[in-house]
Amino acid sequence: MNKNDIREGELALINRHTRTPLTENDVYAFSVILCDNDIDRDLERFSDNALDELAKLFDGVTGITDHNPKSDNQTARIFSCKSEFVPDKFTSDGKPYKRLFARAYVPSSQADFIRSIESGIKKEVSIGCSVKRRICSICGRDISLCPHTKGKYYEDQLCFVTLDKPTDAYEWSFVAVPAQKNAGVIKNFDLKGNDEMNVEKRLFSGEEQTFSAEEVRELAETFRSLKQKAADGEVYRNSLVREIKTLSAFALPDMSADTLDCMTKNLSVVQLNELIKSLETKTADVLPTEPQLAKNGNSRTSNNTIYKNI
Ligand SMILES: [Zn+2]
Repeated sequence: MNKNDIREGELALINRHTRTPLTENDVYAFSVILCDNDIDRDLERFSDNALDELAKLFDGVTGITDHNPKSDNQTARIFSCKSEFVPDKFTSDGKPYKRLFARAYVPSSQADFIRSIESGIKKEVSIGCSVKRRICSICGRDISLCPHTKGKYYEDQLCFVTLDKPTDAYEWSFVAVPAQKNAGVIKNFDLKGNDEMNVEKRLFSGEEQTFSAEEVRELAETFRSLKQKAADGEVYRNSLVREIKTLSAFALPDMSADTLDCMTKNLSVVQLNELIKSLETKTADVLPTEPQLAKNGNSRTSNNTIYKNI
């Protein structure tokens, strides 16, 4: 963040966004670093290409300059944005450092904000954007589809995420923290508008569709992961059915095993759990538990939990 007046040609860029043309006296312009390609505290980085794309997406986007709930939120607007390498600067893993550098303006009436910029208090920026790809550093696949976990080590290699293919940049704002060395960027990701959703939508559209090789790979990964989840679900479902059979032996002794099988076959997991609950209530009637025993004055059995875990 630099203290800076309007530079040559910038007024024209600002006036693209205003209803009535502003003069140099009406506005205050400043520089802000929105994000970069270094691995941040969330173990995420933007790819170099993502920064190029974000430069286009952030032009004209407004940001909140004041998070004080007592005052009306003030906004600044980005009027120029570019990605740039910084000479002789490298990321923590030794790549040439690249950042997203923006110029923004506020009305010159925002004296408090301008003062806080000039004193260096407002340093940290949070951005809101959507990305299509979150690439795992270990295997190069989408982190939501691969077995690796961000922050874990795999044979001495730390798993981090590269954010790629941004689809939308919708906000930025200053985070109320005191100036600090190596102030980072906090990101809020909103996956709405994620293209993976569109792949799914297209898949279920009922119409003929063409998918790219990359989309086919994603669909195959999703399918594989769903199959695994379905297998796990089946194990869980079977355990519920077994529990129902055990409880029914007490609560519904006249019901045949066949009828029971027919009944449980078409029930969802939620319905199976409901059935277990009502069978447990019924079993409690058949096999009195502690309150009734206690009422009978048999205090020695009040800690008897034998029937609780049938
Ligand atoms: Zn992975």
